[in-house]
Amino acid sequence: MTAAAGNMYEKYCDICKTSLSDFYRTGMLGCPNCYKVFGKELAAVLTEIQGTDRHVGKQPKIQGLNKELLSEYERLKEEKELAGLEGRFSEMAELTREIFDLQAELERRGLI
Ligand SMILES: [Zn+2]
Repeated sequence: MTAAAGNMYEKYCDICKTSLSDFYRTGMLGCPNCYKVFGKELAAVLTEIQGTDRHVGKQPKIQGLNKELLSEYERLKEEKELAGLEGRFSEMAELTREIFDLQAELERRGLI
């Protein structure tokens, strides 16, 4: 059972199964892992959009994405806190890494 049927260049997130073309179509990512999988494409798309579209207020996809990144960030922080309280330390370490990655992305975008 290989997934060779589709485009061989198609990347997809193996956690939520969002593919690169899904992302291009919707501008939405499915989970934190997507930000790692599509990091390069994400940066390229954002640069392209910011470079060509100078109409402020006409970037619903980017705004939606920013909002999603921020709410994901908040969610991860809450989850980490909960994991700490419940003594799930390996999960906590994993969340710390995810938060760190996401935080870097948010800082890069000037969102935090
Ligand atoms: Zn995903």
